Amino acid sequence: MTATMDKASELRAARARSGLKHFIGGAWVDSASGETFETHAPSDNSVITHAASGNAEDIDRAARAAHDAFPAWRALDGKARRKILYKVAALIEDRAEEIALLESLDTGQPIRFMRSAAARAAENFRFFADRAEGAQDGLSLPAKGFLNYTVRQPIGPVGVITPWNTPFMLSSWKIAPALAAGCTVVHKPAEWSPVTATLLAEILDEAGVPKGVVNLVHGYGETAGKALTEHPLIKAIAFIGESSTGSLIQKQGADTLKRTHLELGGKNPMVVFADADLDRALDAAVFMLYSLNGQRCTSSSRLLVERGIYEEFAAGIAERVANIRVGDPLDPDTEVGPLIHPRQFDKVCSYFDIARQDGATVAVGGERLGDTGNYVRPTLFTNARTDMRIAQEEIFGPVLTVIPFDDEADALRIANDVKYGLAGYLWTNDVTRAHNFAQGLDVGMVWVNSENVRHLPSPFGGMKASGIGRDGGDYSFDFYMETKNIAVNLDGHRAQKFGVGERGSAKPTLGTAPEKKLAE
Ligand code: NAD
Repeated sequence: MTATMDKASELRAARARSGLKHFIGGAWVDSASGETFETHAPSDNSVITHAASGNAEDIDRAARAAHDAFPAWRALDGKARRKILYKVAALIEDRAEEIALLESLDTGQPIRFMRSAAARAAENFRFFADRAEGAQDGLSLPAKGFLNYTVRQPIGPVGVITPWNTPFMLSSWKIAPALAAGCTVVHKPAEWSPVTATLLAEILDEAGVPKGVVNLVHGYGETAGKALTEHPLIKAIAFIGESSTGSLIQKQGADTLKRTHLELGGKNPMVVFADADLDRALDAAVFMLYSLNGQRCTSSSRLLVERGIYEEFAAGIAERVANIRVGDPLDPDTEVGPLIHPRQFDKVCSYFDIARQDGATVAVGGERLGDTGNYVRPTLFTNARTDMRIAQEEIFGPVLTVIPFDDEADALRIANDVKYGLAGYLWTNDVTRAHNFAQGLDVGMVWVNSENVRHLPSPFGGMKASGIGRDGGDYSFDFYMETKNIAVNLDGHRAQKFGVGERGSAKPTLGTAPEKKLAE
């Protein structure tokens, strides 16, 4: 623990001295305006360092750099791109401890998860590197008299806008496929967690990603983020964040007809039937909500339990939740750390009163913890109904809402009774019910008898207010690339002849070329 703290202090001091600059066209630069903003440690809200605060001028420089770098990067063959992305993965692994410590310090996420998040980022780069060569592959679609085929080509410079929960891993999840596809990138990370985006840019540069291929502009969403979504040289926006911001991004991108991929919020149901393996279900319920401080888009924030086992199951959850270790995010024993920012802390705390006013039971927690930092006690709301705000709104903290249900139809009605549709978790040993229920859930991803276990080739994304589009495997390339159809005639057929009738025989109609013009 002391060695971890010492290392983190050393890394923090170095970043405090250097500050965080933009990385544009291969150079580390300040904002054109000279403005900066502070980033804070959620454990005590002390300043970690200052970051350059980008505006439209910085975004314009970055978009031009990405535009200029695009022809050479797209022309590089897949093997060469693969080699560079492999190097990125290796460097992430070399610096994994540094990434994990700085991410933990900047976001409040427990170090135990940030170590695996860094490893997953390396895996993302390797996974898409292996597919770089085949990214352009299309389909052969023979038709009578035609050789008809498709190819994929990178769409151009893209904007990547990321949130503050596990920011390093999520940035890799977007930037790796974009680069493998042959796109160039302007990355705008979240203003509450800018530190590790800087590390990623350093690593990409060191790995030999050519200048201008990846550019980083720090700054606020309403300034730098907005300018990125409106820039005419940026062809698409890959976005992860809140549903309301996703909607803004579509509006802002409308004038330049941006392609947008939106990975948004969730209020994901975990449905537990009485016939399930209840021990495993209980482990999964606690883990899928309280890990990553509950700041996880796929967290199972609504627990739906069959009425016959409701009391016992809820009591089992309550016992575990009361026992969760809350502490300094850099302590390897910590299970839940502080929330990212005082604003998020206030938002989460506001639901304690909302739950009480709406008539739910605050079975565990429901209060802040200590006087320093953004710590809340892991919280459990029981006896909730689907119409309560705690059952409808994304709270994004270590706060779980438990709702009883009567039968399968009731469970499905409650599960689908929210505006979101990202993930669903289903616990039953009845195989017919499992398939039918999974198909009935209005969500993009369903796990049956499991917590969220990510499989990179499988599609990741949501329905309804949880998003538009899918990531993962080839689905990512569908977003970062244009599909082109090429049709080659093989049977020498002729097109219908036009304009071969006897001159003057046609009745003059609107649009017939005048005699005089033809003579000219
Ligand atoms: P947010 O929407 O507040 O911010 C996300 C990013 O958008 C930030 O970089 C921010 O600066 C930028 N932004 C804000 N306003 C903008 C604008 N007008 N134009 C362009 N960019 C703008 O989200 P957050 O609070 O950082 O992240 C938490 C949210 O992200 C939660 O809702 C969570 O569910 C969601 N999330 C979804 C997934 C998923 O895969 N579906 C994954 C992680 C997080």
